[in-house]
Amino acid sequence: MARYTEAVCRLCRRSGDKLMLKGIKCVSKCTLDKRSKAPGPQLGRRRRLSDRGEQLREKQKVRYTYGILERQFKCTFAEAERKTGITGENLLVLLERRLDNVVYRLGLADSRAQARQVVLHGHIDLNGRKTDIASCLVKEGDVISWHGKSVNTEYYKIVAKSIGSKTVPGWLNLDREKLVGKVLSLPTPDDIGAKYNIASVVEYYSR
Ligand code: SF4
Repeated sequence: MARYTEAVCRLCRRSGDKLMLKGIKCVSKCTLDKRSKAPGPQLGRRRRLSDRGEQLREKQKVRYTYGILERQFKCTFAEAERKTGITGENLLVLLERRLDNVVYRLGLADSRAQARQVVLHGHIDLNGRKTDIASCLVKEGDVISWHGKSVNTEYYKIVAKSIGSKTVPGWLNLDREKLVGKVLSLPTPDDIGAKYNIASVVEYYSR
């Protein structure tokens, strides 16, 4: 599976925003506090971005946050467009329903990148069946648990120790004893509390 392999802090610098791509590590020490300029050669004063440039930057922010490559992001956008309702909101809900994102939201990983690793390495069961597809979409009533001997791993013990301090969004439920999650309802845009201008993303693809 193709994935982004550059230093993730470059993505924050490029978009000029803290995207918290390294999870908890971003809280204590953030590269953007020291180096806020975009990566690459500095060519004097930066030009003001055009409308198209602004739309592109907003789209990239959303894409970087969820850690998706362009092709898959475009497919997700196409699916959001096909659904009834507001395309931007549909897009956010589809992204939020990804299994890797749900593992992250449940607090079973510190970042979405780590959550993806956990899923890809076969540590997660969806409704009792091993699921190693990070882009798989959860639905209401789905149960997210650990696969087989994964509960004996060092990683599981670390998660169990730290889970007490983590908050879980209202559309999910977590059994903190067993570290088993459940989807209570599909997320709404309010649940997601996104800080992007999602209308710009829709405009970007509408041209
Ligand atoms: Fe972004 Fe986190 Fe790196 Fe800061 S530390 S630049 S928020 S990935």
